[in-house]
Amino acid sequence: MRIVVLAGGVGGARFVRGLREAVRWWHPEAAIDVIVNTGDDWWLGGLRITPDLDSLLYTLAGQNDEQRGWGRVGESERVAAELQAYGVTPEWFTLGDLDLGTHIARTAWLRSGASLSEVVARLQQRWDLGGVRLHPATDDEVDTHVWVASDAGGEHDLHFQEWWTRYRAQLPALRFEQRGLAAARPSAGALAALEAADVVIIAPSNPVVSIGTIVSIPGMRDALRAVAAPIVGVSPIIAGAAVRGMADACLAAIGVATDAGAVARLYGPRSGVGAAVGAGPAQPGLLDAWLVDEADAAVVDGLRADGIATDAVPLWMRDLDSAAALAEAALQAGLARRSAS
Ligand code: GDP
Ligand code: CA
Repeated sequence: MRIVVLAGGVGGARFVRGLREAVRWWHPEAAIDVIVNTGDDWWLGGLRITPDLDSLLYTLAGQNDEQRGWGRVGESERVAAELQAYGVTPEWFTLGDLDLGTHIARTAWLRSGASLSEVVARLQQRWDLGGVRLHPATDDEVDTHVWVASDAGGEHDLHFQEWWTRYRAQLPALRFEQRGLAAARPSAGALAALEAADVVIIAPSNPVVSIGTIVSIPGMRDALRAVAAPIVGVSPIIAGAAVRGMADACLAAIGVATDAGAVARLYGPRSGVGAAVGAGPAQPGLLDAWLVDEADAAVVDGLRADGIATDAVPLWMRDLDSAAALAEAALQAGLARRSAS
């Protein structure tokens, strides 16, 4: 069995770590490929930074800082202090010393002509990811910018990282812009993984700036809709809240309620269309099946009537066991669709 996951950073990494555990126990023959959001990537201090890819790399390698929730375990910040003293990096974005090693290696390889996919392949050679393979959603640079109102009237944009990290997503976003999107293409590794997939899982990740960015890469939505495999989504929203992080601020910016049912309708049933965002046209839908938390059981019947096979299960990934149980539930929801069709 070949399992493909679409994932952002923290929610995606927790889910994939749980899925890897479920596969070890119950499906030892299965392979896991992860298509990772690159919309949060940016250039800082002359280095290319890829936060979501690194969250997955470090978490699956057992190198992540569990206390902080991001970055490397045992990290120090001596170089960061130097960079900030020179004014090369802002005080609101710290690059740890060990983390800088990854960024320097990545940038060196990119500068010597390697694609981001090749860079990711080289980075994961060093660590044992337990058989999981990571693929950037695209090799093209598509950095997310956020448009906000200016004090003096009018509006201006800032890089997603500044909006997210410096302003904690508290500046009301007028809209998101994926700069470079029109010319971008899905990575070859992502497309090959989708073609071979037996089940596709949309992880409980930010529906706007993680999953939304992946599926808006030209060609990606068509590639997803072309797979024979069932597509199962897991809600990142539980009982009207974003669990961890600030996904609610992103949903508000595109006019979607912070609600497990509203996110399912944003993605849309594969037999129909997703919700239109802003002035854009409605896009063809993605979901065969959807998991909501037991606290959201009230939305199940309505979503089923809309053509999305929905079930309510515990969605909180508190630890490895609960994440593995959730991943297994997603897998079974997909396999049930496969045998039903
Ligand atoms: P980021 O790139 O680090 O922001 O991470 P993601 O794109 O993966 O999305 C983070 C989102 O994942 C959070 O805002 C939550 O909505 C969701 N999330 C995080 N932890 C959990 C969890 O335990 N259960 C569920 N269902 N969703 C979660
Ligand atoms: Ca992210």
